[in-house]
Amino acid sequence: MADVQYGHFVAGQTVAGTSGRFGDIFNPSFGEVTAQVALATATEVDQAVQAAKAAQPGWAALNPQRRARVMFKFKSLLEDNMDELAKLLSEQHGKVIADSKGDIQRGLEVIEFACGVPHLMKGEYSEGAGPGIDVYSMRQPLGVVAGITPFNFPAMIPMWMFGVAIACGNTFVLKPSEKDPGVPIRLGELFMEAGAPEGVLNVVNGDKEAVDAILAHPDIKAVSFVGSSDIAQYVYATGTATGKRVQAMGGAKNHGIVLPDADMDQTVQDIIGAAYGSAGERCMALSVAVCVGDKTADTLIEKLLPEIDALRVGIATDPEAHYGPVITAAHRDKIARYIQMSVDEGAKLIVDGRDFSLQGYEDGFFIGPSLFDDVTSDMQSYKDEIFGPVLQVMRAQTVEQAMNLASNHQYGNGVAIFTRNGQAAREFAQRVNVGMVGINVPIPVPVAYHSFGGWKRSAFGDVNQHGPEGIRFYTKVKTVTQRWPEGDVTDQSFIIPTMQ
Ligand code: NAD
Repeated sequence: MADVQYGHFVAGQTVAGTSGRFGDIFNPSFGEVTAQVALATATEVDQAVQAAKAAQPGWAALNPQRRARVMFKFKSLLEDNMDELAKLLSEQHGKVIADSKGDIQRGLEVIEFACGVPHLMKGEYSEGAGPGIDVYSMRQPLGVVAGITPFNFPAMIPMWMFGVAIACGNTFVLKPSEKDPGVPIRLGELFMEAGAPEGVLNVVNGDKEAVDAILAHPDIKAVSFVGSSDIAQYVYATGTATGKRVQAMGGAKNHGIVLPDADMDQTVQDIIGAAYGSAGERCMALSVAVCVGDKTADTLIEKLLPEIDALRVGIATDPEAHYGPVITAAHRDKIARYIQMSVDEGAKLIVDGRDFSLQGYEDGFFIGPSLFDDVTSDMQSYKDEIFGPVLQVMRAQTVEQAMNLASNHQYGNGVAIFTRNGQAAREFAQRVNVGMVGINVPIPVPVAYHSFGGWKRSAFGDVNQHGPEGIRFYTKVKTVTQRWPEGDVTDQSFIIPTMQ
């Protein structure tokens, strides 16, 4: 047994798991088990739901400004605890400290957005819609809602969800990834410290058993999921079948389209960071570079090579490292298998990261950067998400061909175009069949006050994360038609009322 054992955080208390089932948590830089996490049963999920249910009416009854005050305080606690949180995040995830701070900061920005909830929840009002009749609408919380999150953004993604949901007056059950639950548990504790009543935010650790218990629970009104596409589709189908509102974000394969007129030096810098940052374990990683014209491809590769050579792969706490290890040995091996698959399929391997080993940390889950050329759309290694530090270069002869690659791919999370041509970029943004578009921006993650969401197999459900769509997801609209009659009683009417 490891020294640290994570249980759950329910009704403001840390509680030990009772299932007797545990998952291992690694420090991926060392390849060692450093902690264990309890995996919840349906009974434990129910305990968290009951805590959330008990807290919900009181929380929703607070005026929105008072709920916002907890968000303000929570934001400042995140800032105060940034170093501690980033260290814990890096130790369990493997991303470098600066990147962990970015993960927390992006979540914090959603909390900042949620501080505006008194304004964001305002309804609409139509005076004099008929004789003495006014119509108004209000947004009301759903009740108890749940979030199920992936390993790769253990701070940002939980905050995308609970930040908005709780500000709107819902109470929350979070089921974070069992691979790095340390930061999500700390977020629960800090949220209490910020003044949230007990039961408003609960964290239940677990695996499929806990997810299934959430999906089946009659008191959970909505489920937000982020993870891989097959599980997202399963969560969407199962959750909606039991009448829940569900948004389920899935995997990705993000293309960067490089036009011949792009600023090549800047494009190379952008692609290097977006392809290899966080070891490629980002749903918005730029994993395919589509070059328009052979000359563009040759120049891009020529300029990428020294930059790839200069990449420093190190332990997560190495301040000089560009990226750290991947999450598990199994995931590293899966990435290596995709590299071999790509070779077997006929792609040209220019840089092979498979033999990389970090001296002194030979047990760490490291993999060096890989670069392919001549990747084609029929290859399975192109169709699938690899989720590692592998960049696949493709060659297209026209912008139209390049755009069609992104548009026709099964995933449609993000896409970027690199060009100096405003007209081409504008047309591309309008026509491409992908949910988030960057124009000379390699990772077009929308800011907190816009909404995040891909298309096709990158998202199931209609409503995106955070921003205005987040408010819509976590509230339901009630519309009131009111009349305060004076004078004579009017006759009965058997026809549908109109405003004639
Ligand atoms: P994952 O699908 O393995 O796990 C996500 C969550 O689902 C976890 O909480 C996990 O416990 C749970 N889960 C795992 N297997 C399950 C099963 N069989 N039944 C029910 N629940 C199950 O994903 P991951 O490996 O943690 O994260 C990486 C994936 O997430 C990548 O595909 C990445 O692209 C995607 N992702 C997408 C976005 C987005 O917004 N589109 C953002 C981040 C990550």
